[in-house]
Order: sequence, then structure tokens, then C-alpha cells
Amino acid sequence: MRKLLVPAIALLAGAAALPYWMVSAADSTSLARPATDVTLVSDADFLAGVVPTRTTMSALFQDHLIEGREAVTLVGSIAETFDLRRLRAGQPYTIDRMLDGRVRRFEYEIDGDRMLVARRASMDGAPRFITTIDRIPKQTAVVMIEGEINREENSLTAAIDKAGERIELALGLADVLSGEIDFSSDLQPGDRFRVAVERHTREGKLAGYGPILAAEFVNDGRQLRAVRFTPEGGSPAYYDDQGRSLKRFFLKSPLKFEPRVTSRFSSSRKHPILGYARAHNGVDYGAGSGAPVVSVAPGVVTLAGWSGGGGRTVKVRHPNGYESEYLHLSGITVRAGARIGQGELVGRVGQSGLATGPHLHYGLKKSGRYVNPVLEHRNMPPGEPVPAMLLNAFATERDRYIGLLFARSQTKAANN
Ligand SMILES: [Zn+2]
Repeated sequence: MRKLLVPAIALLAGAAALPYWMVSAADSTSLARPATDVTLVSDADFLAGVVPTRTTMSALFQDHLIEGREAVTLVGSIAETFDLRRLRAGQPYTIDRMLDGRVRRFEYEIDGDRMLVARRASMDGAPRFITTIDRIPKQTAVVMIEGEINREENSLTAAIDKAGERIELALGLADVLSGEIDFSSDLQPGDRFRVAVERHTREGKLAGYGPILAAEFVNDGRQLRAVRFTPEGGSPAYYDDQGRSLKRFFLKSPLKFEPRVTSRFSSSRKHPILGYARAHNGVDYGAGSGAPVVSVAPGVVTLAGWSGGGGRTVKVRHPNGYESEYLHLSGITVRAGARIGQGELVGRVGQSGLATGPHLHYGLKKSGRYVNPVLEHRNMPPGEPVPAMLLNAFATERDRYIGLLFARSQTKAANN
């Protein structure tokens, strides 16, 4: 069982004096431990823990036997700068308490960037605190991370995890290459990747990622490269090493990452509930209930609501005579008539209507007729290339970034 209370002496001992969050956030996945499990150590004057589920700031102080008036004043001071309803389970906190039980300092990590700090304003008289929200210092470095798809690590997430990185990086990489690789079906054992990315650390511990600068993915023997480039006055986008856009008219799929195709498009198929042969006018993706569903291209929402056997359904009209549809949703996040962008959330996976389990039925119409979305996506032309007048600037950036992928040293100091 993990200790919620860490005596100050344990933190101060040892070479690097582990900051509290390295202790308390070490297994931030098992944080649902109720605060009542806490055994108070009589001589502890430094408490570190993570916020339990379903608690309030007041209850948190009560759990640590902070005296009534003290706790009320502390909560009042915090409430002046922080919305108490935003207290999140699983976030680390510390209480620095004096031996007489009065609080000297309380810290609560709001998110990866911000720390709420309540300091005792005076040691004499009535309790008084000053609360501020401080930036958490982070270091940023550009690093190169590589990995391989094989029997054990048979998905991008698994390979990234093996490389010691977080799932956000896999999501980012999949996003960059989503126009070129279908991560649900295209990955092969032996596929390799390298990615140069801005990586944030806090006290030596991974704290998140900045943008991916360059990536190389060898998929089934095909070498794909992606380089981030921002045309003057434009927004950053990814290009191959010839300056061709990696963005497609359609995303590879309406699910963010590695969806599993559970039923393909066909003109005739036995319906799992109705029992008779019926065309399957789309692709079914197995996905957990609540997984985000995004629009595959920019367009206008033509339907957002219940639609018979399709259950909660969203339909989006796109340029060039296309219309996409997303069925069996558990929730819808757009309204009919809304103009939406590529990759914008339209709803969440569910099993509304005629569905045997949570999945996404994704359909695509071209000029009013259903087409096979997988083939259609593959055949659509890419987006705008780097403009000719910017090709020199692009080449300079590309060489620098691609250089990062093959640098001898794995880590380079960021120069921005
Ligand atoms: Zn279906």
C-alpha cells in the first residue's frame, strides 16, 4: 500500500531530495484511495498525497485534522484565487504543518503547468493566508525517440510505451501521419519510427510534449517522412521531404487513433440483429463507449439527432459532393447547420439504435451514393504543398529537423 503521508525527513534525505510529486505521483493511477485509509503519523509535519475521489477542499483539511478555524480561513483564502469546484481527484498536494498543528504552507498542483500555493501570512495572531497560483518551472529539450512495431509491441502505443514515452506522443505521431498510414490496419511487424519532438521535464521527470518537429516512419518497407513547417503568415503543418502536404482531404478515419475495423463496407452482408442479408453502407470500428468521433473533413452538419436504427447520428456535408455519417453515438456535440473543421469533435462512440455493442458505424456518400470510405479516403488528393517561393526556407528547416532524427546524440538542447 502506498503511503499518503511522507515525513519531511524522508524527502530531505538522500542525494537529490526527491520533490514531493515524484513520491506522490509515482503511481497516480491508483489514486482512488479514500482519505480515511490515512494513518496519521504523530510527528509528521509534512504531508504529501493525492486528492481522493469525491472530496472537497474542506474535507481534505478535515481528513488531516486541521483545526476548524484554521481550515475555514485556509479554504477562504484559497477560494479567492481558485474555483474550489475545480479540485481534481488524483492531483498531488502537500501540507507543510508546524508542530503545533498550524499550517505553514499548502500546495496543490492544478495541472502540469500551475501550482496553487497558500502561505501563512503571519505566525502570530489569527490565521491568515496568502494564496497565489504559480507557474511550475519546466525544462524543454528536443529529443529523438525511436521504436519498432513487432510481435510484442504490435501497436504504435505499445511501441511508444516500450520506448518509455507517454501515449500523447503516439497520438501526436498518429495525427501527423494519419493521412498516410491507417494505424488500424496498415502496421506491420518490422515497421520502425523515429521522431524528433520537444519534450518537457520537471525535476527530470517527463511532464509532456511540445510539437513534433520531424518524424520518419518505415511502414511495410515504405519510408515516410514528416517535417513541421510554418509558411509565413500561415499555421504550422506537416509536409513530406519534398514539401508535399501530408494533410489529406479526408482523415484516415473518424476515430483518433488505431481503430479496429470490425465490419467492412460491402454491398451484401447478413445484419447481426435483423438476421437477413443487407448491404453494409459503411465501416464499423470497434471502439470503447465515449471515444471521441471527429469529422473526417471540413463541412456543414446536415443532421445531428436520432435517426432510426442508426441511433444518435451526425451527418456532415463536405465539398466535392461528399457526405459523411457517424452512427450509434452515445452523445452528439454539434448542431445541425454548424460549420465544422476537419478533425473537429462531432460526438462520442456509443451503441444507440440497432447495435450489438459500442462501435462506430462510419459511412461516406459521394454524389448521393454510398462508397467504400477506406478506398475513397486513400484515393483523395493531398492538401496544398509548400508554396514555390518558400521552398528554400522549407529545405533549410527540413534539413535541420531531419538532422535531429539521425543525430549521434539522442538529446539536444532546445534552441528556442
Ligand atoms: Zn455498421
